[in-house]
Amino acid sequence: MNNNTKILVTGGAGYIGSHCILKLLELGYNNIITIDNFSNSTKDSLQKIEEYTKKEIHNENLDLKDSKGVKEFFSSHTDITTIIHFAALKDPFESINNAQAYYENNVGGLINLLKYSSSIQLSNFIFSSTCALYGEPNKIPVDENHPINPQNPYANSKWICENILKDVAKERNFKAVSLRYFNPIGSNSKAGLKEYYSNRSKNIVPQIIRVIKGEVNALPVYGNDLPTKDGSGVRDFIHVEDLVEAHLRAMEFLNQEHSSLNYDVYNVGRGMGISVLKLINEFESQLDIQIPMNIVRKRKNEVAEIYADSSKINAKLNWRANKNLAQMVEDTLMANDIIY
Ligand code: NAD
Repeated sequence: MNNNTKILVTGGAGYIGSHCILKLLELGYNNIITIDNFSNSTKDSLQKIEEYTKKEIHNENLDLKDSKGVKEFFSSHTDITTIIHFAALKDPFESINNAQAYYENNVGGLINLLKYSSSIQLSNFIFSSTCALYGEPNKIPVDENHPINPQNPYANSKWICENILKDVAKERNFKAVSLRYFNPIGSNSKAGLKEYYSNRSKNIVPQIIRVIKGEVNALPVYGNDLPTKDGSGVRDFIHVEDLVEAHLRAMEFLNQEHSSLNYDVYNVGRGMGISVLKLINEFESQLDIQIPMNIVRKRKNEVAEIYADSSKINAKLNWRANKNLAQMVEDTLMANDIIY
């Protein structure tokens, strides 16, 4: 794969997509185009990347649900060979009461992308999937063969997308991978990138930041009686830059791989369980403060403990996470202008 390969990054203005574009540009992949309708982002991230890299990014402000728009897009960008598909709605808890919107956006968006990219010579497709499709694991760490048990429309939409992608890649003979992310946090603070937190975000890190900034009085912690060592949920937090690196390895692998395998799936986690209380404690010790907490009723279907068996991606893509919890927290604090 040469650096002139044209890569479409959907959701490029979002948290992980923007970090991915930055990395691609830093590696000299300059022929990048993005599609983002800014439903969960602003132009800020793309502007920051442009300022930092002194390179221009062309974003098409397009909703992937808009079939006509997606069709027109591909008819004027016939030289795209690789798609990295981040664009999706991503909140498992929000999806419970917005099921239709989640299926329309996540499944409908993928179907449009696949349908209208049939007019181009697509070689590779990388899809953002999630560990949420395992549900509450029956053994940890979870490997890719763990039974699938999505507990909400978001996770189910990703499982449906994985299956559609697998079948269409085979039918059309392009190569595709689904990367099942665990819990990305952290930022590239050098470029000023950070996760966009909408007011409705119930993720732990945005909530911690709000409390530290004094926007909210106490941090809601969902349950302290989960069957884990300290009673709080255990997750596999991974630095977003490590996660992005996995996409680069996947892209390189798909280009080298001459086997007949059209589709594969990889977990992308550090393989280390960290409790929510330990994460909070890391913020507290780096800032030398105490974060007021409010233990609230645990959410329906809250997973107690999950972390990845990443041996498949370690072995096949030669990928390994490098950054530890302290770096993830420090970069989050810097990106949010809490430390400098
Ligand atoms: P994000 O919300 O920050 O980025 C997604 C981007 O896609 C946003 O900029 C949004 O405006 C855009 N978008 C959404 N629907 C669109 C549509 N129909 N048309 C055009 N643009 C659209 O999310 P993220 O954290 O960067 O996540 C990226 C991907 O990774 C998502 O597919 C998500 O499901 C998956 N994922 C994220 C996490 C996580 O914790 N962040 C974990 C597992 C999987």
